[in-house]
Amino acid sequence: MESELKTSLIEEWRGYKGRPFLISGPCSAETEEQVMETALQLAQLKEVSVFRAGIWKPRTRPNTFEGVGIGGLKWLRRVKQETGLLVGTEVANEKHVYEALKYGIDMLWIGARTSVNPFTVQEISDALNGVDVMVLVKNPINPEIELWIGAIERIARAGITRLGAIHRGFSSYEKTTYRNQPNWQLPIELRRRIPNLPIICDPSHIAGSRAFLHEISQKAMDLNFDGLMIESHIDPDKALSDAAQQLTPNELKELLSRLIMRNPSTSDPRLLDVLGELRQQIDVFDDHLLDLMEQRMKVAETIGNYKKENNITILQSTRWDEIMKKVITRGVAKGLSPELIDTIFKAIHQESINHQMKIMNNGIRKETE
Ligand code: PEP
Ligand code: MN
Repeated sequence: MESELKTSLIEEWRGYKGRPFLISGPCSAETEEQVMETALQLAQLKEVSVFRAGIWKPRTRPNTFEGVGIGGLKWLRRVKQETGLLVGTEVANEKHVYEALKYGIDMLWIGARTSVNPFTVQEISDALNGVDVMVLVKNPINPEIELWIGAIERIARAGITRLGAIHRGFSSYEKTTYRNQPNWQLPIELRRRIPNLPIICDPSHIAGSRAFLHEISQKAMDLNFDGLMIESHIDPDKALSDAAQQLTPNELKELLSRLIMRNPSTSDPRLLDVLGELRQQIDVFDDHLLDLMEQRMKVAETIGNYKKENNITILQSTRWDEIMKKVITRGVAKGLSPELIDTIFKAIHQESINHQMKIMNNGIRKETE
């Protein structure tokens, strides 16, 4: 289902200073001094458009810092008055929306733990009806594109046009290098489904650690994301939440200076010609890949028939182990990453199993007919 949202282009948003549209500030507002000092330093960076600070914090465990609450909204209002930066915070229910709007907050975002819940998103949408404020919807913690799009659509229905998405990665059970898995194909699919919707990357919550902020930011820029949300704190190590993933404003400045910005498209006719030809080659290879997979499945089906006739189980794990080892070694020798080979071949294997299952089950149905 294609979405038809009436959203405005990010270039037309108040406060837009160019790509990346930059949102920065501490994970949490902690004290008036911490908020003001961080904001004053961030205001010195020409790229920052919006100052962020969490007022209500969704924490995994109780008895951890859950935000300063309404009192902190006054500090954000002060930031706006004294630095000229726009200000934004997370809202997780209708009360948060009313309170934030009362203090003139310019941008509201819906957190990953809220966008999973259609009831709550609807409640927030109802509270936003007819209000003109920027709203960003973080991806739900689980990698479900429809849930993300659904939350965006609910907010759009309230008449919000300065609407965008934040990609903050997805939670996974396995221990991984990053705190949250980026699953880049999801924001890419979101762009395909809603082409004009601004997408902001949140490297802080993907990384979970300062060390990876630059590489994730660069990747987001290379994928043509519109903006970045990066947490910044005057004294990151002493932050009451997300200490490991925040940068000082100075470190943020340094990160930005190292970002390489590439153009999303070109109008140079010669380059367009060359690209056109190369893209045709890619299309030919893609067709070829599909043909090969079709042929591979036919062979798998033939094997399925033999297995059925001889009463052999579909899955033979030793054979599968050998295949995986072989293709990874050969793939790596061809300059392909082991992750790619692993993903592709597991998917192909699953597809073979599905084809063989169909053959087996058809047989069973026939026998009972
Ligand atoms: C945050 O932005 O500080 C936050 C809580 O983010 P998320 O909803 O992505 O976990
Ligand atoms: Mn945070």
